[in-house]
Amino acid sequence: MVSLDARSQACNTWNEMLTYLRQFHSPVVRQWFSDLEPVEIAGGVLTVRCQTLIQQQHLSMKCRPVFVEALQSVTGKLLGINFICTGSAGLNPVMNLCNEVPLSPDYIFENFVVGPANDLAHRACQAVAMQPGRVYNPLFIHGAPGLGKTHLLQATCQELLQRQSDIRILYITCEQFVNHFMESISSGNQGQFRAMFRSKCDVLVVDDIHFLAGRDRSQEEFFHTFNALLPQGKQIILSSDSPPRDIPSMEERLVSRFANGLLAEIEPPCFETRLIIVKRKSHLRGVNLPDDVAEFVAKRCENNVREIEGAITKLMGQAMLNGGQYTMALAQTALGDLLPQASRMVSILQVVGHVTRFFNVRVPDLQGKKRHKSITLPRQVSMYLVRKYTQYSLEETGGFFGGRDHTTVMHSVKTIERLRQTDSGFARQIEQIENGLEREISRPAPIAASQAMS
Ligand code: ADP
Ligand code: MG
Repeated sequence: MVSLDARSQACNTWNEMLTYLRQFHSPVVRQWFSDLEPVEIAGGVLTVRCQTLIQQQHLSMKCRPVFVEALQSVTGKLLGINFICTGSAGLNPVMNLCNEVPLSPDYIFENFVVGPANDLAHRACQAVAMQPGRVYNPLFIHGAPGLGKTHLLQATCQELLQRQSDIRILYITCEQFVNHFMESISSGNQGQFRAMFRSKCDVLVVDDIHFLAGRDRSQEEFFHTFNALLPQGKQIILSSDSPPRDIPSMEERLVSRFANGLLAEIEPPCFETRLIIVKRKSHLRGVNLPDDVAEFVAKRCENNVREIEGAITKLMGQAMLNGGQYTMALAQTALGDLLPQASRMVSILQVVGHVTRFFNVRVPDLQGKKRHKSITLPRQVSMYLVRKYTQYSLEETGGFFGGRDHTTVMHSVKTIERLRQTDSGFARQIEQIENGLEREISRPAPIAASQAMS
């Protein structure tokens, strides 16, 4: 039993921590933190009880450092933090190789704003969550980055778990699939890998399947995984930045398998949907924006929803410096530079398409191990342009280009920046590629990646 004193001490510390986090780490703060229960501080550790295992995993894996910082700052002691989850509310964890991607408690259907641009994908995911393996198999969600594919995939997983807590879901990014497959080859554990994917899950969810582009062996493996699961009535859910046919260097037999189920596209949300998203997202972060400010944000962030979240973070930071008032003047100061950036986004496949055409190389070369200058230069240029024109992180960019480390991407970006400054011929080449990309940006609707690459 925890004594009343110990509990109230933990509560006080916890409330101070939340204030600290709101002040210094507002992007991590969520409204559902108020459901968390500080239990006690004992043995140098603050124990906090979560409502669900998904909350516990998310906090332990994604937020621990900032919570420890908050705890140590408000107490002035070297304490640690432990997130626990007890009781029946703890859902079965989603099976995940090495637990690399915990599900986000934010990515549930309730938090997904439905509009004409995502209605079909949303309904399809809900239908699959109700009747896995029965309605649309596979379900293939595609759309540009930042439009909610990962959110919908995770919401489907969480709904499936709510309905059937012992269901075995394997949720994985395509990059992880590829990495684990390659590891299984080098360690001679292919049998184990296959058992995991082909017979130990009821639902297989693979996010960003376009990462299979140009990876012949992984495509072959995925083809067999697919063929093993489908006849058993196992549900397969996939997401991709582009429709199956537009994924470069994708085997035809996989393309046709993917297209056999339901293809549901998510398009950029209209203004009305964006406005509701702005309100919902800010509310989740514990902020109520006045209507004019919310409209301002929705107008500014036209291309994808990730920008909306970035804008809210900026607003919160600015408001913190200005006494917590969310005024139009504040919004204009905070988001003044957002418009040009927001309109500069293209997909990773479009970037790669332009580069491969320009240098006359193939996508698998960019992703492969070749170190000849005729390949390394286009590879570095691609990384540079991906960082400049898309929202991919260093890790994601490295992942796309053959699982390279984020430091390799940083190095490539620096190399190209330096070359641009020192070599005027090279600078003109890059400008030419950029002009091509700029033309796509200024087109009203993005052209299909296959056209960009033909
Ligand atoms: P994608 O996987 O397509 O790149 P994400 O699922 O990561 O995009 O979405 C980016 C962010 O935008 C996430 O935080 C997600 O919650 C949010 N988001 C996207 N679409 C919606 C929506 N319709 N309603 C609420 N949030 C959304
Ligand atoms: Mg995603």
